[in-house]
Amino acid sequence: TLGDSDEETYSVGIDTTFPPFVIEDGDSYKGIDVAIIKAIAEDQGFEVELKPTDFSGLMPALQTGSLDIAISGISITDKRKEIVNFSKPYYTAGLSLVTTKDQLGIKGLVDLKNKPLVVKTGTTGYEYAKEHKDMYNYKITQVTNSEEMYGTVINGEGVAFLGDAPVASYAIKEKDLPLKIVRKKLEEHDYAIAVSKDTGGELLEKINNGLKNLKETGKLDKIIRNYLEKL
Ligand code: GLN
Repeated sequence: TLGDSDEETYSVGIDTTFPPFVIEDGDSYKGIDVAIIKAIAEDQGFEVELKPTDFSGLMPALQTGSLDIAISGISITDKRKEIVNFSKPYYTAGLSLVTTKDQLGIKGLVDLKNKPLVVKTGTTGYEYAKEHKDMYNYKITQVTNSEEMYGTVINGEGVAFLGDAPVASYAIKEKDLPLKIVRKKLEEHDYAIAVSKDTGGELLEKINNGLKNLKETGKLDKIIRNYLEKL
C-alpha cells in the first residue's frame, strides 16, 4: 500500500503496555522500540503505521499477514521462528520474578507452592511458567497486558509475576509501584523485530540493513541509553 509519499507503508504491531520499549504518550507512542522502527524506516525509505495490539495477538496477526512487522521487546524463540521471521537482535533481557515489597518470604519460584503466579498470555514468562509448573506447583493466572500483571499482584489476587527485568524495573521506578524484583535472570532472551513471512525476504533485509546502520552509527545505543540509563 502506498502512503502520502510514494513510499511503501508497513503496519507495525505494538504492545503499548511495555514501557520503556513502547510508551503511550497521549494519542501517540514513543519509547525504545518506536524510536528504533521509525529510525529504520527513515534509513530504508519506508513508512510505518503503528497498530496497538495485545501481545498475544501479535504473532497470529503476523502469521495471517494482517500485520507486516511487530516490535515490543519480542524475544526470539524457536517456536516463534516457525511462524515469523526475526531480524538480528537489538537488546538482551532477563526474565525476572517480581512480588510486592512486603512479601518477605518469597525469594524464588520454590516459595510459590499452591500460590497464584501471574503471567501475560503468550509471553516467554508464560512459557516459562508452564514449563516449570510441575516442579514448583504454583497456580498460573493469565492476564492480557503488563498493567494488569502489576495490578493483579499489587491487589493481592496474585502473589508474584514473571516479566522482563528492564520493563519491570522501569515500571517500579517510574510509577513508584510497591513491587520488588526477587530473581533477576531466570533465563535470558534476545529481543528482535518480528516480520511477517508473507512479506517475503525483502522487508526483513531492509530491516536488518537499517538496524545494522543504527548499530554502526551509535544511534541504537543512544536510543537505548536515553530510556534506560536512569535505571
Ligand atoms: N519478551 C517477552 C516475550 O517476547 C515479553 C514481551 C512483551 O510482553 N511485550 O514474550
